[in-house]
Amino acid sequence: MSYDENQHRPTGPRRSARGLVVAAALVPVAFTAWLLWQGAGGDEDRGPVAEPTAASVSEPAGKPGDAAPSASASASASASPSAGRPGADGPLAGKVVVVDPGHNPGNFRHPRDINALVNIGTNRKECDTTGTATVDGYREADFTLDVSRRLRTLLEKQGARVEFTHESDRPFGPCIDERARFGNEAKADAVISVHADGSATGNRGFHVILPALVKGGAADTSKIVGPSRGLGERIAGHFLRATGSAPSNYVGGGTGLDVRKDLGGLNLSTVPKVFIECGNMRDPKDAALLSSPDWRQKAAQGMADGIGSYLGR
Ligand code: ZN
Repeated sequence: MSYDENQHRPTGPRRSARGLVVAAALVPVAFTAWLLWQGAGGDEDRGPVAEPTAASVSEPAGKPGDAAPSASASASASASPSAGRPGADGPLAGKVVVVDPGHNPGNFRHPRDINALVNIGTNRKECDTTGTATVDGYREADFTLDVSRRLRTLLEKQGARVEFTHESDRPFGPCIDERARFGNEAKADAVISVHADGSATGNRGFHVILPALVKGGAADTSKIVGPSRGLGERIAGHFLRATGSAPSNYVGGGTGLDVRKDLGGLNLSTVPKVFIECGNMRDPKDAALLSSPDWRQKAAQGMADGIGSYLGR
């Protein structure tokens, strides 16, 4: 099938070492866990192996059981509109997380609408794209919804209020500028846009995309570059630990992190926001993982742990 990956890197290998040194210093969890995983004999054929990293990485802040946040949250829970719902007194009580399931299963039926240009501050770009799919036809737009729902369940158990930019409850979109506005207007404490990549066979692994410093028109990321990096580093580290998947071997120089200035969903955000590319749908081994409900649960757990760590810091 043909798919336009304007929200993604073009297919084919692209190597960048610029983030390696910085991320090695700033992502101790991710990088250390990755080294431990490799040292334990991990390779691309082994699939998820969580044990070596889980046993070796210290417990993150902000997970359930941390006394401080839940104690203060429960004191105010009775006055909160969310009182009484499961997790309302959890460590993320009072936090708003916007989850953006990438693309929309209906986008392919609305080419004119999703190809219409919208203003992303620095330039104009297509409203949205169809996303990619595995060779077997598992669509990225279905993957992103499934993982996002799993993530919502996990975050709500910790007390967060979770809002979706869409839930396949509209014929197409939203457009990328609307997706950004959604997080802004929700005054989200954190936003994650969930994706899977469409790259060449042999390109494997996950990466988290952070906003670059961008100013132009309505785009000004100066206030979110720092916090978004903090959010993204935690998600990368916990995603690695939860899934056992390796950081991307084709983006980010092995750090699992990339920085981009061409994504409207990041450029127009005024709240901390990252994208995650959970794997490469066009690679058969990654596709097998992405197609597994068990693996998707681990992926959602990694994201929830990373978001929880960031919000509970
Ligand atoms: Zn995507």
